[in-house]
Amino acid sequence: MRMINATLIKAYAKELGIDEIHITSAQPFADAAEKILEQKNAKLYLDTEHWQKRNIEKFCNVQSVFPQARAIIAACQCYLTDEKSDLSEPGNPHGLIARYTWRNHYVDLKKKLKKLGQLIKQKIPVSYYASSNGPVAEKPIAQRSGIGYYGKHSIIINQSFGSWIVLGTLIVDIDIEPDRPLTIDCGNCQKCIEMCPTKAIIAPYIIDRRRCIQALTNWYGVIPQDIVRVWGNRLYGCTICQDVCPANEHVESRAPKTNLGTVGPSLPLLKILSMEELEYRKKYSCNQITANWIDFNAIRRNAIIALGHIRDKVALPLLQKLSSDNDDVMAKTAQWACTNFDN
Ligand code: SF4
Ligand code: SF4
Repeated sequence: MRMINATLIKAYAKELGIDEIHITSAQPFADAAEKILEQKNAKLYLDTEHWQKRNIEKFCNVQSVFPQARAIIAACQCYLTDEKSDLSEPGNPHGLIARYTWRNHYVDLKKKLKKLGQLIKQKIPVSYYASSNGPVAEKPIAQRSGIGYYGKHSIIINQSFGSWIVLGTLIVDIDIEPDRPLTIDCGNCQKCIEMCPTKAIIAPYIIDRRRCIQALTNWYGVIPQDIVRVWGNRLYGCTICQDVCPANEHVESRAPKTNLGTVGPSLPLLKILSMEELEYRKKYSCNQITANWIDFNAIRRNAIIALGHIRDKVALPLLQKLSSDNDDVMAKTAQWACTNFDN
């Protein structure tokens, strides 16, 4: 049996600037598969989400991407930086970008995990598979390895960095002594459930993604009235349930650790609406806001909703023009935005 000491791997990870790593076995995550399936059957996912087509059992078994898997090194990287969060100015309204994608921390972490694999290889023959942001079940991996526990908002919370983390994994074909899951949870706190503006957290750990702004920013269609009214100035994603979480209060912000795929905290909405799709994808490349599964029309629609909330008069002529757009979703959304100027 080929085996390596976990302490050595943790020291390597530290050298590489990875915030935290824990180890778990390569056993399938059957419980997670069952929960995802239950939520899919309860129709809590959007019709365009990957779960509709994806094989859930395979997603929850790392051996489907790396058949010789024996252990999983789970990693997290904190993205809480000390930057201003909205660059709007009068006459130049901006839409907010969710904090986790101000930069591409996923690519940064995946690169570091590949380097970790190379360092391990210098000690012991090993094959490995690195990923961050898919295609494996990162949250169940993080939970079982002890990287963090599930918050009631269904996001993993790390004891040092709160939920301000991206997750990654290095799957290896050697044995490593596993860590244990954490034994803590949210206790009696319900803050994220109470503060979610759309009441998308329908029960602890269960999100109705058809009501979640984070999920809806990727989905194209007319946003229901009760949701559009509380959408705010968001262009991509939503972090309210994280912003209000007491488990995040102690986390210290720091200078950015990477500049890969930087888009920053907010983007100019009128500029976004003047762009062709290709220009948009080129300008903000290497970031989740231009991932191939992102619908550019959804981004444009989000920009219109955000302008309707900001109500800077500079946007009114464009919104009036878009009110008679040939695309029904754009037209209806722009009509709502114009009406909101009178409220
Ligand atoms: S991301 Fe926003 S809309 Fe979704 S559950 Fe959290 S607070 Fe609610
Ligand atoms: S707000 Fe409270 S209930 Fe929600 S994740 Fe944070 S600690 Fe848990």
